[in-house]
Amino acid sequence: MRSHCCYDAIPTSSKLVIFDTTLQVKKAFFALVANGVRAAPLWDSKLKCFVGMLTITDFINILHRYYKSPLVQIYELEEHKIETWRGLYDTSISEFRCLLSLFDAIYSLLKNKIHRLPVIDPLSGNVLHILTHKRILKFLHIFGSMIPKPRFLQKRIGEVAIGTFKQIAIIQESATVYEALTVFVERRVSALPVVNERGKVVALYSRFDVINLAAQKNYNNLNMTMREAVASRACCVEGVLKCYRYETLETIIDRIAKAEVHRLVLVDSDDVVRGIVSLSDLLQALVLTPAGIDALYS
Ligand code: ADP
Ligand code: ADP
Ligand code: AMP
Repeated sequence: MRSHCCYDAIPTSSKLVIFDTTLQVKKAFFALVANGVRAAPLWDSKLKCFVGMLTITDFINILHRYYKSPLVQIYELEEHKIETWRGLYDTSISEFRCLLSLFDAIYSLLKNKIHRLPVIDPLSGNVLHILTHKRILKFLHIFGSMIPKPRFLQKRIGEVAIGTFKQIAIIQESATVYEALTVFVERRVSALPVVNERGKVVALYSRFDVINLAAQKNYNNLNMTMREAVASRACCVEGVLKCYRYETLETIIDRIAKAEVHRLVLVDSDDVVRGIVSLSDLLQALVLTPAGIDALYS
């Protein structure tokens, strides 16, 4: 990971959408949907440089901050420009780096608790690609098949304790979408296992799924239940991708890489949620911990 640069992990061709900061936020979120992308770098044409990213988390933050009721239009979403929103809500992260090593990219993603890292061409200053945990794990997975496997891959996930096993943020299927957004904002987690009244996991609602509210133009009704929101998703993974305490790290990595999701829900034999094994946990354990660096939990 230290000897490969971000360029090595980016695809030969992919779509990249860039927004000018004078664009209206509502148009920007519709443009994410229309182009099927999850985030866009922001260009300030006065400063002539990239100043940040617009992601679904920003959409969540705007909805959560300004939503009043299904009868009141969210004026700030209709009228604000990206630059106005950023002026009010500065995340103060600026992770726009030239072609650094994959090791540094992982450190930056985990340390800043972000999910998108724009890769910049040092010569032209252009953004070439937006790197994610998924892409890096895929690279590691393919590359890893060419080198001897570390023995700890055969250990059970319960033994190595890779993941989060306490204070898991969950949401009841009878709760409202607004309540789910509150958990996203307050706990800063990337997804919520949706549970029924008996505590069994019945679905997974990730930050990505919130963009469906823009796609279906029903962001004015955040009083709908999680059950309704989950059922109305345009496209989603079938069922919940889970894992068990007795499964090996290798099995879990294969499953998460194949399914191309950001996390597995760790459950017991009754399907009760006991933990989350996220790509952040895996990259910390596989790449940073062996180098004696803790970016995720420190
Ligand atoms: P998501 O999981 O919804 O794609 P992130 O966790 O990446 O979102 O983003 C969290 C916050 O950090 C958002 O407000 C986003 O605009 C900001 N952000 C994400 N990546 C970067 C980056 N590379 N540089 C600056 N800000 C970023
Ligand atoms: P991102 O690419 O933004 O990281 P996610 O992996 O969080 O996206 O989510 C992409 C889609 O996969 C969403 O519809 C989400 O609900 C679904 N998904 C993610 N993880 C799981 C899981 N463990 N089980 C079922 N569906 C999942
Ligand atoms: P992520 O944002 O998914 O990349 O994960 C960052 C950290 O948050 C990891 O240690 C995850 O295990 C943890 N995490 C993710 N989702 C949840 C959740 N719903 N509840 C508690 N912790 C979580």
